[in-house]
Amino acid sequence: MEYRKLGRTGENVSIIGMGTEHIWHEPEAAVDAVMNEAIDLGVNFFDVFMPSPGIRSAIGTAIKGKRHKIMLQAHIGCAANQTEEYYRTRDLKICEEYVNDFLKRMNTDYTDVLMLHFIDEMDDYDLVFRPGGMLDLALRMKKEGKARYIGMSSHRVPTSVKAVDTGVVDVLMFPVNPAFDMLLGDTVIDALWQEDAYKNLEENKNMPSSSRRELYRACEKNGVAVVAMKPYAAGWLFNPNNPSGMALTPHQCLHYTLSQPGISTVVPGCKTVDHVRQAVGYLTASQAQKDFSETVGRTKWNFKGTCMYCNHCLPCPSGIDIAAVTRLADSGSLGVTDSLKESYNGLSSKGSDCCQCSTCMERCPFEVNVIANMARAAALYEK
Ligand code: SF4
Ligand code: SF4
Repeated sequence: MEYRKLGRTGENVSIIGMGTEHIWHEPEAAVDAVMNEAIDLGVNFFDVFMPSPGIRSAIGTAIKGKRHKIMLQAHIGCAANQTEEYYRTRDLKICEEYVNDFLKRMNTDYTDVLMLHFIDEMDDYDLVFRPGGMLDLALRMKKEGKARYIGMSSHRVPTSVKAVDTGVVDVLMFPVNPAFDMLLGDTVIDALWQEDAYKNLEENKNMPSSSRRELYRACEKNGVAVVAMKPYAAGWLFNPNNPSGMALTPHQCLHYTLSQPGISTVVPGCKTVDHVRQAVGYLTASQAQKDFSETVGRTKWNFKGTCMYCNHCLPCPSGIDIAAVTRLADSGSLGVTDSLKESYNGLSSKGSDCCQCSTCMERCPFEVNVIANMARAAALYEK
């Protein structure tokens, strides 16, 4: 397993985490098998939003004796009705009850991340972040030792940007995949399934959506960890008949997601032990199996000129990790922070090592001006 920092928290998290939604209605033995296979393979980050008591207890039983090995991400703002159906709530009494119920069923005193759940609309954001709202409740629970870090989950850019700017939110859970990255920031994710979506996307020449990419960069710059959900776009990207002409394998999807700025871990949903092994198999997949660049570059969407951080342009005779240098140049364009500088200084070859041979540009499927990007990075970090 590979581990990355969970942003400014400094915690080490496995780059392959796990979303547990898909084991929600599985028998207890299956829940136990999936959870333990993941833990045994080094997965240490688990998102558990489901409010139903059955699945919470099953996961709590599965992780008994292993709590110290893993990080749990609980959600505040979701609850279950009498027939155990999920609903979103901002009722503070119910919110607190459900977090306490989570801790009890997980046999733990604390959750590592407490996520303000599913905040897509601006009026909902205002409700949650107002004095005395759900954020204040989460902060009180953090003070009481019931949560170590505060997070927020969202599918939309405007509320996410606001949350990142607060300085209070350490972790952002956000959908990251090449299909959603084509959407305009303020577009709901269901847009991909609407009849005229592809037409609208094709007409927009400013692809990929700059606002989503700006969000990832802002997260990296501010040390806000991105927990990437929906790396497969709910399976849409596996369908060869989807209207983009872009069909990817799970490993290509995971590689795209993990290559974007600010991403600490990706949490694919796993329903079976085989799903867990397939996701973790990313770590042993060959570069050719992970390479998404040619498939993405062939789509009808317009990616030209935009670095997708795929490293299809390697090898570089100067030993430059072109994707890493470009990613840091992009994130640094919002302002160079100490942690960005530290990452840049840690690279064995820098932008200034570029001898302008241009072989990378012949290989790049996205017609990126790599030489200019290397110079941009050198100007930002090597002054
Ligand atoms: S320059 Fe092109 S090939 Fe290289 S990482 Fe960026 S998009 Fe990929
Ligand atoms: S142009 Fe620069 S970055 Fe590209 S391969 Fe040559 S030395 Fe490496």
